[in-house]
Amino acid sequence: MEEKLRFYKEEDSYIKCYLCPHSCSLSEGKYGVCKLRTVKNNIPVVINYGEVTSANVDPIEKKPLYHFKPGMDILSVGTFGCNMSCSFCQNHEISQNKPSSKFIEIDKLISLIINTPNNVGIAFTYNEPFMWYEYIYDVAKKIKEYDKSISVVLVTNGFVNKEPLEKILPFIDAMNIDLKGFTKKYYNEICGATIDPVLETIKIANKYTHVEITTLMVRDENDSIDEIVEIAKFLSFIDKNIPLHLNRYFPNYKMKNEPTLVEDIMKAKEEAKKYLNYVYVGNVAGVDNNTYCPNCGYNLVTRDIYTTNSHVKGDKCPNCKEYINIIF
Ligand code: SF4
Repeated sequence: MEEKLRFYKEEDSYIKCYLCPHSCSLSEGKYGVCKLRTVKNNIPVVINYGEVTSANVDPIEKKPLYHFKPGMDILSVGTFGCNMSCSFCQNHEISQNKPSSKFIEIDKLISLIINTPNNVGIAFTYNEPFMWYEYIYDVAKKIKEYDKSISVVLVTNGFVNKEPLEKILPFIDAMNIDLKGFTKKYYNEICGATIDPVLETIKIANKYTHVEITTLMVRDENDSIDEIVEIAKFLSFIDKNIPLHLNRYFPNYKMKNEPTLVEDIMKAKEEAKKYLNYVYVGNVAGVDNNTYCPNCGYNLVTRDIYTTNSHVKGDKCPNCKEYINIIF
């Protein structure tokens, strides 16, 4: 379904979209980088409003969010399209293509959220949620008008402009933001984007909402200890309580590099923990991904592949009363 754009300017001979930093020039039938925004009959439109390609009930740990409503499930939905073109994309069938989709009205989506057992709310994930901005904004606003306790989560690449970001953040409870690497080259050549707007998104989002960060460590591309340490230092300047997830890469889409070495990820975790209180490893079996109190080492949350058990109820360590960045 089509919907009028919310962030554009009319220039002399074209429409400038300013939802994301690509700042595309749109004209009749000509699409932007995301292949979602164009002009039809002189109206700037997005073509994926309400169009759902995937809907599942996932453990919230799978987003990954380890410090937000641990042990709960979340209805997870996505559409198609992306404003990046990562050569390792794990969801390229929906991010880089236009698969079949089904229109879901907002009231029906809210009813699904309410009637799903053990569900804390909705996560916009699988493809880039900011490329679904108009629909997500309308859904999130309506959810909060209906019941503020329903959580709205974004799993995003963070490549969005400040104005749309700040407009939607009051309706968002948690975000997992990809920080794909820490060099301009990596963002330019591997992801088809730039790093600075993503760093800005992390800083702004952390003022409004719960934020966790994911870095996919890609073998021989961004998996040096130096780069991971730079990421950890950057996050620690914002807040050393921001959880960092270091995920292991496996070959996918256009990227053919060998899988990242587990020993490199474990070493990166140890180094990152010198700057951050919470660092976790993803896509590696059998690792300790429990949450421990950064002050006394008390086991706050135990996790394995199938279960999550919290041994803490509020935001204080039961043993030493240290502040803990976990939202229940
Ligand atoms: S949202 Fe799409 S059309 Fe708009 S600036 Fe970004 S890539 Fe271009």
